[in-house]
Amino acid sequence: MKEYQLIVIGAGPGGYEAAIRAAQLGLTTALIERRDVGGTCLNRGCIPTKAMLHSAQLYREAANFELFGLHTENTSFDWAKVHQRKNDVVVKLRTGIEQLIKANKIDFFNNSASILGENDVQLDQGEVIRGENILIATGSVPARPPIPGLDLPNVVTSDELLDDPHFTQADSLAKEILIIGVEFASVFSSFGCHVTIVEAMERILPTMDREISQSLNMVLKKRGVSIHTGAMVEKLEQDENGLVCHFTEKGKAQAVPAQQVLVAIGRRPNTQGLFAEGFEVACERGRIVTDENFRTSVDSIYAIGDVTSKIQLAHMASAQGICAVHTIAGQKPPIDLRYVPGCIYTDPEIASVGITEDEAKQQGIPVKKGKFLMTGNGRSLIDEQERGFIKVLAHQETDVILGAQLMCSRATDIVAELATAIVNGLTCAQLAGVIRPHPTFCEGVTEAVEDVHAMAIHLAPKKR
Ligand code: FAD
Repeated sequence: MKEYQLIVIGAGPGGYEAAIRAAQLGLTTALIERRDVGGTCLNRGCIPTKAMLHSAQLYREAANFELFGLHTENTSFDWAKVHQRKNDVVVKLRTGIEQLIKANKIDFFNNSASILGENDVQLDQGEVIRGENILIATGSVPARPPIPGLDLPNVVTSDELLDDPHFTQADSLAKEILIIGVEFASVFSSFGCHVTIVEAMERILPTMDREISQSLNMVLKKRGVSIHTGAMVEKLEQDENGLVCHFTEKGKAQAVPAQQVLVAIGRRPNTQGLFAEGFEVACERGRIVTDENFRTSVDSIYAIGDVTSKIQLAHMASAQGICAVHTIAGQKPPIDLRYVPGCIYTDPEIASVGITEDEAKQQGIPVKKGKFLMTGNGRSLIDEQERGFIKVLAHQETDVILGAQLMCSRATDIVAELATAIVNGLTCAQLAGVIRPHPTFCEGVTEAVEDVHAMAIHLAPKKR
């Protein structure tokens, strides 16, 4: 029987990064994946959606080319090619990861894994391999809430929308799409599809900063997206023209027609076939329960990523995987898991890290705020991306940065600087004491942290 110091099950961003780190730390490592390396993130999530968003953004910008002194005639798009390019990006990245797995001398098994006991894992009901430790990183799958009509044709999850030929071939782009959840609205509206968003909470992006929700609401409405909030979907029906979504919005019955319906509300932990009969670890509502070191109810078995976490994000899965492996190797986890940047890849982009104003109020934390409107940022004007803001919250007395919310171009990159500041307990004064290159979007950070002290150069003086 082959024996390893660590067996990792699942090669999503949580699993494959954990396996590589384990190999770097000198552990003999096996990695088992039943589908493709890269998991949901690379094959059905983060990467394909962002590749499509990039095409969508370019297409929308093409409408403004005259403004930049450029002429393009008859700009059009090829839906099948949009998907083909997305697939090309995925394959390129996947090949790179496969090579890294090999180069790190990790034993890779393209099989379905089933855990037989504390140390034994069976591959496709055949060979059994043994691990001193086992790390579960089996991720999640789309959740289908119990709404009547969810099994109708053309009612899909992101999995089908990204991969099923019925939705990816030429001429398959719907004229009207209804989205339960916010994702994908930017892509489809950019390609001229009429998008309706149905959101159960009182505002879109309910966990984000209130101002960001309101601004995104405005941007999407300006692009012709219909938004229904506080709306509970009751059922979906098929009539002679297509689908009809019935929902109650603030007590009032509504019915909206659509050619396709995308159900993008939540994902459930994936433990299907993971445990052999008679053996399992403790789970709560399908989620594997772990302690702060990612150890499950069985000492030799650890679990990380979407299969365990309330925060289902690729960077969270990777960070947890790396921390778990350092713990297994007897080392201190190298990443601070308290502050997880949250990003929405709309246009303009949205990003947040640390606390929001509402959370500070609820927790009784005295904060001061700095906010810079990107209308005063040169790079934003050059790029015709002047809408948006960067907001920073700092402790009233210590000046230590506690949170940041951004809605602007490159927000999802800039937020890393603010996360670095928060993790390291930096103050606004320290962040203001850094020269940022000009002209860049990140100059907005200088202005926002300076505004905490009412010293931003490109903002009119505050009334005292
Ligand atoms: P996964 O990526 O789900 O990987 C788990 C792997 O385990 C899979 O490959 C699966 O085949 C394999 N597996 C399962 N069971 C077994 C078994 N028994 N044996 C062998 N293999 C098994 N997150 C972000 O941070 N940013 C984004 O922009 C973003 N966009 C997203 C867009 C969409 C449409 C979706 C659906 C998700 C998005 N996410 C995003 C979430 C992100 O994809 C997940 O949080 C991330 O992939 C979780 O990583 P993981 O390693 O825990 O699991």
